[in-house]
Amino acid sequence: MGALKKKKIAVYPGSFDPVTNGHCDIVWRGLRLFDGVIVAVARNGSKNPLFTVEERLEMLRETFKDTPGVEVDSFDGLLVNYVANRGADAILRGLRAVSDFEYEFQMALMNRKLNKNIQTVFLMTGLRWIFISSSIIKEAAQFGGQTRGMVPDIVCEKLQEKFSKSSSGV
Ligand code: ADP
Repeated sequence: MGALKKKKIAVYPGSFDPVTNGHCDIVWRGLRLFDGVIVAVARNGSKNPLFTVEERLEMLRETFKDTPGVEVDSFDGLLVNYVANRGADAILRGLRAVSDFEYEFQMALMNRKLNKNIQTVFLMTGLRWIFISSSIIKEAAQFGGQTRGMVPDIVCEKLQEKFSKSSSGV
């Protein structure tokens, strides 16, 4: 009995530039399988981010401030090293459509090659989030499109701030 009680932790890595309701859906599903989920922003991830890592962390912390079992962090370098250092058991990733599959498959196999003790777990997003990505959200927001209901409220506000600043030319 005692041996079955070991806490299982997953790391959910990504750019989260910015976090969307699709990401949140994966975190909530992950919490049904794991005792804890560490949402980890990759510091060496995307080349041209809209938000700084600190801004992304702040939005994630606000989003999950009332969700027990979720920790927000960032990491540098190899993901498998971070996962091992945190004593986590698995990498959590979300799948939308076929388009995600090839890249995710390649990355999961590479990570397994790098550390065979760490498993990648894929969860399918809720149907209502299947078309949502950080990039489509940024594109919509940039041209004044409404993103409420697709991202956490804090992200809506930050997107508006970002784009009203840049469009006023200051
Ligand atoms: P990355 O730059 O590593 O792809 P993202 O922040 O774009 O980081 O995504 C992190 C993870 O969340 C990836 O596994 C991605 O497939 C998944 N994801 C992104 N958007 C959604 C969504 N709408 N539904 C489910 N999973 C998603």
